[in-house]
Amino acid sequence: MATDPPPTLKKFCLDCGAALQTRAVAGGRRPTCPACGFILFRNPTPVGMAVAEREGQLLLIRRGNPPLQGYWAPPAGHVEIDESVEGATIRETFEEAGVKVALNGLLGVFSRADVGVVIIAYSGKVAGGQARAGEDAIEVGFFAPGALPEQPAPAEGDAVDRWFFTVIEKVTEPWRKIEA
Ligand SMILES: [Zn+2]
Repeated sequence: MATDPPPTLKKFCLDCGAALQTRAVAGGRRPTCPACGFILFRNPTPVGMAVAEREGQLLLIRRGNPPLQGYWAPPAGHVEIDESVEGATIRETFEEAGVKVALNGLLGVFSRADVGVVIIAYSGKVAGGQARAGEDAIEVGFFAPGALPEQPAPAEGDAVDRWFFTVIEKVTEPWRKIEA
C-alpha cells in the first residue's frame, strides 16, 4: 500500500488515548499510536443475508435504514462477535421480518474494495414465525417469481448504495424471471 488508506473517524488510540498517526507498519500505512504502539487494523465487516422463500414466494423487507433506505431487499445484517455468519443471518431475519429461516446453502460472497462490508448470502426456507416488519424494516412482503417490486437503481449517491443495489439484483435474479 503506497498511499494513505481511506480516512478513519478514529483519531485516538483505543488503548491509551494518545493521538493516532498514520505510519508504514505491518505491510501497510495504518493509524498507529506513537505512545504505546497500538495499530488500528481496519477490516470489512461481514454481513449475513437470507434469500429465503415460503411456498414459492421470496421474502423481502423494505429497508428502514441506509444503505438503500426504502428499498426492498433480502433481510441482512452485521455479524456480531459472538455468533457465526449463519447464526447472524437467522437472527437478523427474525428481527427484521419476524420469521425463522432454515438456511440451505451459500448463494454467494460479495465484496468490493471501498464499501467496508462483505456480504455473505444464503438461500433458505421460512420455517416458522409470524411475518411482521420488525427492527430496521418498514414492511415485509412475499413475492412470486416475476412479481418482485420494481425499483430504480440509485442514481447518484454513495458507492455503498450503488454496490448494494447490484448485490440485491444479483441474489434475486432468479426470482425476477417468471418460471417457465
Ligand atoms: Zn496508545
